[in-house]
Amino acid sequence: MNRAYVGLGANLGEPRRQLTEALTAMSGLPETRLAGHSSFYRTAPVGHADQPEFLNAVAALDTRLAPGVLLEGLQGIERRHGRERSFPNAPRTLDLDLLLFGEEQIARPGLTVPHPRMQERAFVLQPLLELDPEISIPGKGKASTLLCACASQKIERID
Ligand code: AMP
Repeated sequence: MNRAYVGLGANLGEPRRQLTEALTAMSGLPETRLAGHSSFYRTAPVGHADQPEFLNAVAALDTRLAPGVLLEGLQGIERRHGRERSFPNAPRTLDLDLLLFGEEQIARPGLTVPHPRMQERAFVLQPLLELDPEISIPGKGKASTLLCACASQKIERID
């Protein structure tokens, strides 16, 4: 069994419903158990600023799937929730990122773990720390230390 962490984000349609449905869908992935999830957070868009605020959360999964198979499962959930990608950082109905997979460091076409930008995003680090206050990101350091460098990013816990 491996512990994986997944970042969830949505800023089109009904973000709260889409995140809730995505959590249910993840708990239905084969050989996978939803071990927990963070609160939901309202966050300012990164990159392309002229778009609605995001709703973000992080989920903890215990899985026997290989990391690439898990990512395919997550992409299937994204597709079923009608995601359309027009340009990088564009608005989206549902974005699922594989943040961490145990202690593994993976760099191959289509799959980089830890997720390459997670260490600079408060909307990933803060919900992740809610699930495990002591967690470290392999190759990057303690999430709590990394979050200190993101102090300027607007993020608001909403439940
Ligand atoms: P994005 O539009 O930011 O969700 O990026 C999706 C693309 O990133 C897909 O082509 C994935 O194969 C690739 N990718 C690489 N590593 C990851 C990861 N850890 N989690 C999610 N997508 C990834």
